[in-house]
Amino acid sequence: MRLFSTIFLSILLFSCKQDNSLAQSDSNEVFIPVYYADTFEYPVGNPPLEGYYNAQGFGRNNHLGDDWNGVGGGNTDLGDPVYSIANGLVVYAEDHGPGWGNVVRVVHYLKDSTQVESLYAHFDEIMVEVGDWVRLGDQLGTIGNANGIYPAHLHLEIRDQIGMDIGGGYSRNRDGFLDPTNFIERQK
Ligand SMILES: [Zn+2]
Repeated sequence: MRLFSTIFLSILLFSCKQDNSLAQSDSNEVFIPVYYADTFEYPVGNPPLEGYYNAQGFGRNNHLGDDWNGVGGGNTDLGDPVYSIANGLVVYAEDHGPGWGNVVRVVHYLKDSTQVESLYAHFDEIMVEVGDWVRLGDQLGTIGNANGIYPAHLHLEIRDQIGMDIGGGYSRNRDGFLDPTNFIERQK
């Protein structure tokens, strides 16, 4: 009798377990990144940073990112490739209007289950679409001048709060923003 009870109980438990897992896959699917970001690298130059300098670093004039500029100055870097700083998912890729020009935003999923977002601005040409998975070093677009309002350069931000408003590129409040060079150096 005890044996039968045990078998019956096991079948019952097994059915419950099945039901639970079905319910979970319906309503609460776990998101698994196609590519985790395990290494980060600078977005310009091949090799990285060759021919570039940081014209305005993080925090200078309340700047929320780095401005990567060709050493030749002016528009000498116009049309140069911009690479993804790590593996990730493109979540934004369009012209954001005056001040920003073409913007690409990529979310990076780290193995410690944290996320960071990289934001690249003033592109001449965008070469990715929302929903694209990119790998470290994949070309996202080309350096531009935001429709002629700046000398060509890349504005790069790294944020540890995902999906924040695009903002204005400058602020005394740095909540959610990381020093890009400092972050990349630590994650290389
Ligand atoms: Zn900038």
